[in-house]
Amino acid sequence: MANYNLLRVNDRLYIHLGADEEDPVYQLAYDGLPNRIEIGEADIVGTVELTAEQLEKIQSEYENGGECGWCGEIARKLVHPHIFDFAPRQKMCKNCWNHDRGVYLGSIGVDIGQFEEDDDSKQCVACRKFIDGKRLLKLEDEKYECEDCAQHMSDMAT
Ligand SMILES: [Zn+2]
Ligand SMILES: [Zn+2]
Repeated sequence: MANYNLLRVNDRLYIHLGADEEDPVYQLAYDGLPNRIEIGEADIVGTVELTAEQLEKIQSEYENGGECGWCGEIARKLVHPHIFDFAPRQKMCKNCWNHDRGVYLGSIGVDIGQFEEDDDSKQCVACRKFIDGKRLLKLEDEKYECEDCAQHMSDMAT
């Protein structure tokens, strides 16, 4: 067990895990996602106790995830960009990957493949976008429709 400070910065709570060794301007400030922030003024509002197991899980999120080089969102998982949008040292989140996958498949007919091996994203039959499995509805014949399109269809029906 180890204790970490719970910080309040601009009305948000973070578990303070220490300075970012690669870039000491930033602090590793976990808020449910592997966030890095610059700390100006922070109140210590409490402490949290993390088991070695919990800490390991958070550390692996920092290693595998972080800030997407394209949209700037913090994600638990980032991957190296695909060949059509290669940028050294930048990593890409699943949303940006799926967005590009739909665009390149639609425009030049090349599929950059799935975000990661066990990714459950599928292409929506209506809008042709690649969408995360959690936001898809399964239709007949192994086809999928995204929530937005399903909503749109039911709005039109009424
Ligand atoms: Zn992104
Ligand atoms: Zn759709």
